Amino acid sequence: MTDFTATRALFDLPEGMIYLDGNSLGPLPRGVAARVAQAITDEWGQMLITGWNRAGWMDLPTRVGDRVGRLIGAAPGTVTMGDTLSIKVYQALASALDLRPDRRVILSDTGNFPSDLYMAEGLCRTLGPDYSLKTVAPEAVEGAIDDTIAVLMLTEVDYRTGRKHDMARLIAKAHAAGALVVWDLAHSAGAIPVDVTGADTDFAVGCSYKYLNSGPGGPAFIYIAPRLAEQVRPALSGWLGHEAPFAFDLDYRPGRGVERMRVGTPPILQLAALDAALDVWDDVDMQALRARSIMLQESFIAQVEASCPTLTLASPRDPQTRGSQVSFRHPDGYAIIQALIAANVIGDFRAPDILRFGFTPLYLTPEDVDTAAKTLARIMDSRAWDRPEFHARAKVT
Ligand SMILES: *Cc1c(COP(=O)(O)O)cnc(C)c1O
Repeated sequence: MTDFTATRALFDLPEGMIYLDGNSLGPLPRGVAARVAQAITDEWGQMLITGWNRAGWMDLPTRVGDRVGRLIGAAPGTVTMGDTLSIKVYQALASALDLRPDRRVILSDTGNFPSDLYMAEGLCRTLGPDYSLKTVAPEAVEGAIDDTIAVLMLTEVDYRTGRKHDMARLIAKAHAAGALVVWDLAHSAGAIPVDVTGADTDFAVGCSYKYLNSGPGGPAFIYIAPRLAEQVRPALSGWLGHEAPFAFDLDYRPGRGVERMRVGTPPILQLAALDAALDVWDDVDMQALRARSIMLQESFIAQVEASCPTLTLASPRDPQTRGSQVSFRHPDGYAIIQALIAANVIGDFRAPDILRFGFTPLYLTPEDVDTAAKTLARIMDSRAWDRPEFHARAKVT
């Protein structure tokens, strides 16, 4: 049994704030500041360059990758950390296309996060005019898989609506058609149970600053199925993905397995933050987390639907087909979210009309959910959102 009172005590949340945005930027776990301070003063400060060996900096992407791997069903040695998710999407996609040289089409869906689609477009442009990205509606993906598709590239949980793809089913379908798969787990890792091994995915990528709480700009992860890892030819062949970086050979030879997806110098301070942030998962059972997430989501939906008739549910009604977020639509969604934030209930807005709320059982209680729903109802009833300052758009929504 997971003790969610104990996990909540592991986070430093501002007094009085109800945080429903851990799907966008996770909050600060208590152990992180001390660990980062130690990495700065004891390691960087005292060891300087010798820290690469003495403090184990060079192995940190793999060691932390194994800890992330445990949360997504990946065996030790199959995940590494570094760069941002957009870069990891590019790497996975480029390598997958390279493994299917007789095909030229990437299939994705219109619910995917734009950066994933932009990276795919840019890659196609580089590879030549016969490469293309095809996008269909999320519900039409299964029917669009045929023997022209080189790579199926999907994000498991839709960042806007929380709709969740059936990963194992789509992988089986893609493999039967001879296609490879790249899964983006940005809104899955730390949010729902994931089993990359059991589902038999080829590549998986994701970020660590959402549900894994590594802090702004924390490193991304990449997984390659062990059956493919030794065949993969990295598109971004950086020196730290080389078999022997310190031999300084003039020719590139890929490193062992997923290590070849390392590119350049790893971000040690951010990796130290992530390493400490992962401690909060030590005693967490993902099935218990999932059950509690659904309980919190269902309670929020029921309360909001009962008290805010002008908000319409944008997420699937069946909790089994949702990730760990709930979204509603309203034409004045932006202003409503600003009014909520002013009342210390933090959600976010996604254009054109989505109010988005993340559910993170590690630090969110049923009482928090009640307070958030009541605050939202009060703002809707009183039209407190309809003030000029709440309509003014900031750079980040
Ligand atoms: C959050 C997110 C990203 C962000 O990519 P970065 O390179 O880390 O900024 C990309 N793809 C998806 C699906 C996301 O949810």
